[in-house]
Amino acid sequence: MKRKISECPKELEDLIDSVNLVPGDLEKFESDLLELSKQFNTELYGKDNPTKTRMAKLLSEYGKKIRNLISPELEKRIKYTVEQNGFENVVFQLRRLVNERIMFRDIIQAFRMWDIDYNRQPYGIDAELFKLFTKDFDYDRQLVLKPTFNFSKALSAFSFNQDTSIELLSFRVLEILTRDKIPIERLRICPICKDIFWAKRIEAKTCSKRRCSNNFHQRKLRIKEYEKRLDKEFKNLKKLQSSLSPKNSLITQQRERVNKLLQKIKKEKMKNGNL
Ligand SMILES: [Zn+2]
Repeated sequence: MKRKISECPKELEDLIDSVNLVPGDLEKFESDLLELSKQFNTELYGKDNPTKTRMAKLLSEYGKKIRNLISPELEKRIKYTVEQNGFENVVFQLRRLVNERIMFRDIIQAFRMWDIDYNRQPYGIDAELFKLFTKDFDYDRQLVLKPTFNFSKALSAFSFNQDTSIELLSFRVLEILTRDKIPIERLRICPICKDIFWAKRIEAKTCSKRRCSNNFHQRKLRIKEYEKRLDKEFKNLKKLQSSLSPKNSLITQQRERVNKLLQKIKKEKMKNGNL
């Protein structure tokens, strides 16, 4: 039987590549950005009105600080630099990418829940999915999403155009997924590197990086070994229980051995995303 291989649509692939470049610890990354933002504003407006020279100096300084937080690839992707486009602009672009990634993650997790727990029965994914909008965005000079549970509002970040009209900035991930009727079952989170990936084969467990699939399969083998050992140790426990008095220390020791193995297996399975 021929296995069906499905290629990721180009535009979606591009977006996935971008969001995967966002530093993995999203909460920390966001708070780092926020902290820099506060510092920047204090330095800029703290004393008196900023002069051109001071502005240039600050931009170059904060350009470096931002570059310390992100990879050169990510900087290239957002196509903005602090020196040329301003600090807030770059922070805004980065935070949007963070939110796109959170949106990806939420959709993928909601899908798994719907698939496994609800057996694909009709089920409305409600505001729970959009928890991220309940966060307080506390730098207010920027045009960012207002914290709200309202779906349409959640989508409405906007920016001003040169002709003073406004542009609606919706989530690209939602735009692409709904417009192109993307099968969400193809979207996964790699249990090893936590990247978002497109499953070319429906049975794919990890992203396409060799190091991830090796890691996953080696762990699978290890789990099998542990399970074999568990089987043996469990049989030994039964044997001891049938021949010795229940309070015999040999039984206690053996039970401990079994429990340790069980814990180990559970831990390893979790590292493989329970797949
Ligand atoms: Zn991976």
